[in-house]
Amino acid sequence: MPIEPTHPYEWIASVAHLDPTRRCLEDERGLQLTYAQAHAAAGRHAAALASFGVGVGDRVAIQVEKSIDAVLVYLACLRIGAAIVPLNTAYTANELDHFFSDSRPTLFLVAPDHDEQVDQVAIRAGCSSIATLGVTGDGTYGELVAANLTAVEPTTSGPDGLAALLYTSGTTGRSKGAMITRGNLLANARALAEAWQISAGDTLVHVLPLFHVHGLFLSLNALFAAGGSVRLHRRFDPVETITSLSKASVFMGVPTHYTRLLDCDALSPETVRNVRLFVSGSAPLLAETHRAFEMRTGKVILERYGMTETLVNTSNPYHGPRKPGSVGLPLPGVELRITESIAAEDGQSIGMIEVRGPNVCAGYWRDPEKTAADRTDDGFFRTGDLGHLDCDGYLHISGRAKDLVITGGYNVYPKEIEMELDSLPGIVESAVFGIKHPDFGEGVTAAVTVKAGTSLDESEMISTLRERLAAYKVPKRILVVDELPRNTMGKVQKNRLREQYSGLYLP
Ligand code: AMP
Repeated sequence: MPIEPTHPYEWIASVAHLDPTRRCLEDERGLQLTYAQAHAAAGRHAAALASFGVGVGDRVAIQVEKSIDAVLVYLACLRIGAAIVPLNTAYTANELDHFFSDSRPTLFLVAPDHDEQVDQVAIRAGCSSIATLGVTGDGTYGELVAANLTAVEPTTSGPDGLAALLYTSGTTGRSKGAMITRGNLLANARALAEAWQISAGDTLVHVLPLFHVHGLFLSLNALFAAGGSVRLHRRFDPVETITSLSKASVFMGVPTHYTRLLDCDALSPETVRNVRLFVSGSAPLLAETHRAFEMRTGKVILERYGMTETLVNTSNPYHGPRKPGSVGLPLPGVELRITESIAAEDGQSIGMIEVRGPNVCAGYWRDPEKTAADRTDDGFFRTGDLGHLDCDGYLHISGRAKDLVITGGYNVYPKEIEMELDSLPGIVESAVFGIKHPDFGEGVTAAVTVKAGTSLDESEMISTLRERLAAYKVPKRILVVDELPRNTMGKVQKNRLREQYSGLYLP
């Protein structure tokens, strides 16, 4: 890293000054920007944003397709001290209403071919201006960028300044805006670059969406903080990714990316020989996928754990054992503890995971009650995840606390049952969840997907599990489904399964 930045935009500005021709960004269509060009382009974007009156602390909501210009909007917001509010491209006008009314953006940037209803919703919710940005830099906002308006000075606002409002996935209740500060971004990018030894020589293949913490912050910032370069792919295509990986050194993905890469014949030690680091996060990576990837490529995936509110908390080590099924050790500067221990399983104390450090967000936007409820008196953030630390201090996640099933007064940790189910012949993957039950409060229930051409008998599966698990843990029903419902980050949506099967045990 050339200098220790005090502001995240210095990642770009300092390399643009010290090594202007170094590659910063490219896309799959061959568009390339050096650091000097990215700096100049972010300046034009900053001027375009300022022409809408966007200044320090103002929100810029963005719902556009992934492109280099979308990254430049993010960089321009950092440059002028505005807060970016990235919105999932799948959100409908109805869903967007909440994000607009809550965040009150000064500007809403949207794709040129967007649903017109969205404009009405944005205006009604008090959004000051709406402009369009397409993947080739087209649209009304794109024209302003091209007009090269008078430059605005970079902000000097400090580490407490708001860099983003990132809305949580909101599987229970309304989605909340996590206030991510510049200091959060600086600290986490520095910790990741150090922990993963990212350097100016690295090229990242970027296949993640830009509306989630993983694709927008972790991947981009870790590379920019070290002066590395990023190759953007509009979406994840396993074959294109493998081709792209032949000229790259780092890949960051979600577990589904790894299973889909494994389904491709082109994945081999030869095609990924230049990649020195494969990272997985955002959802649990099956130990089986971890092992299969190593067998196939010779590369050991590094799994890490983070969340919208905290960026990355833990990581398996770069040097040292990367344990399948574990998310590793706390990153430098992050304190982690397990509290409110609710069960001792095989000698391990499973409890709530709490973290404290410069990576933890400043709280929830306009929601001091929720902010306070999620903090302990000594400043730890309650992640809502359950887990335990093993004898080497590695963290193992048992799932979200709200997914814990309480049946007849006993706690059942879905992950334990899922691991047993996944080991049965013919089962591809499983999700265990609780459903209202007249006798037991909640009935342990499983949804499984099976290998093509396999037919599994429910009562046989239940009998097999009875031999391996205490009776109260055995699912009352094991439902074979075509696929498990997942969100764009590959997380299984157990709330949808609970809703779908809510009446299963009702008399
Ligand atoms: P999000 O805020 O959408 O990034 O979701 C964060 C949640 O994803 C965490 O609270 C965990 O429940 C889960 N998560 C993230 N990384 C992992 C991982 N490596 N293993 C298991 N769960 C994970």
